[in-house]
Amino acid sequence: MTGQAQEYDFFPAHVVRTRRLGPTLLRVTFGGEALRGFASGGRDQSFSLFLPRPGQAEPNLPYAQGEGWFAAWRALPAHERAVMRSYTIRAQRAEPPEVDVDFALHGTGADAGPATTWASTAGPGARVVLLGPAVADNRSVAFRPPADAGFVLLLADETALPAVGGILEWLPAGTRTLAWIEVPDAADIQDLPAPGGADITWLVRAPGAPSGLLPALRAAGLPDGAPYAWIAGESGTVKELRRHLVRERGVDRRAVAFSGYWRRGASEDRLREEAYAGQS
Ligand SMILES: Cc1cc2nc3c(=O)[nH]c(=O)nc-3n(C[C@H](O)[C@H](O)[C@H](O)COP(=O)(O)OP(=O)(O)OC[C@H]3O[C@@H](n4cnc5c(N)ncnc54)[C@H](O)[C@@H]3O)c2cc1C
Repeated sequence: MTGQAQEYDFFPAHVVRTRRLGPTLLRVTFGGEALRGFASGGRDQSFSLFLPRPGQAEPNLPYAQGEGWFAAWRALPAHERAVMRSYTIRAQRAEPPEVDVDFALHGTGADAGPATTWASTAGPGARVVLLGPAVADNRSVAFRPPADAGFVLLLADETALPAVGGILEWLPAGTRTLAWIEVPDAADIQDLPAPGGADITWLVRAPGAPSGLLPALRAAGLPDGAPYAWIAGESGTVKELRRHLVRERGVDRRAVAFSGYWRRGASEDRLREEAYAGQS
């Protein structure tokens, strides 16, 4: 016994409702009594979402096995085991226990990933499992600015827009914040509540065009002082943005939190297998 609370747990849940936020973004609200124990730390709180395969009533996930669940899940045939994808908690409410997750839908037909296909057709009652925080102070919150940051820089595409929303709601008043957010359609632009105030620049990426985030950042004048930067989105773009900040702007690399949320041409399964191969 260590006396420490378990940091993560499995939370079976179901779809309560869905709502279109724009052409690309779909909000799925999950509910269920188990979510009373889900302890989002806010900001960019991420978690793993397990989804059923087509034709299954619930995700095939041997979580009752405790610590051996991952090996047992991985040992299942690929077409039978639950789809596992990373998402962000956009909002959590206590009564009734609910969480909102905003899905950036991408691709159509065979090009669409299984999470996108699932979200596009999910209706009330659809069953899922969340693997997420049981304590609010957990390692799946990456946005951790130091108290002495001169200003905050946020750079995101549509997959990281839910995280930016959570971060802006969390930031205390008086924090100078500049955000660049790129979405695929002007109608995806949202009114983001930012009690602390923020200068938000929205970019709209034309279909098939490269990201405009780096050119926009390059052209921008930044305030004086040392920033804390948070970057998330497509991996290649995230790397370029980080490199620009560290090499061309001289930002301290320890003050740049960055995360590839997806990689062009690679499913999350492939990214996980690569990470797994790198460890073994
Ligand atoms: C910590 C973290 C938090 C995340 N939070 C969110 C979130 O809140 N909302 C959200 O929508 N996404 C979020 N993502 C990204 C999401 O996990 C990926 O987009 C995921 O690949 C979607 O799964 P899929 O089954 O639809 O596609 P996959 O099966 O994983 O991929 C299929 C194909 O689609 C491509 N692809 C994947 N995502 C996109 C995209 N957005 N646009 C274009 N092509 C794509 C892949 O390159 C691949 O070629 C997050 C990722 C991480 C790591």
